[in-house]
Amino acid sequence: MHCHEEIETLYRYLDHELDEGEKVRFELHMRACVDCLRRFYYELHFQTVVLQTLHENEVPPTLVERIRLALQES
Ligand SMILES: [Zn+2]
Repeated sequence: MHCHEEIETLYRYLDHELDEGEKVRFELHMRACVDCLRRFYYELHFQTVVLQTLHENEVPPTLVERIRLALQES
């Protein structure tokens, strides 16, 4: 799996176009890949207030925590 292929997945994730299997796979990838995690946050930032959005989209709490950590590192 190459990260440049994940960008399209990321946008589809944000648009709620992924099926359950794709969602799980992408969330797992973001847990292992800081680049995609940061990209995910970056894109979210342009959509609306970040953590509010995460909550509304029912992103797993562990993923929200990872994003918080990534933000602290940057
Ligand atoms: Zn990645």
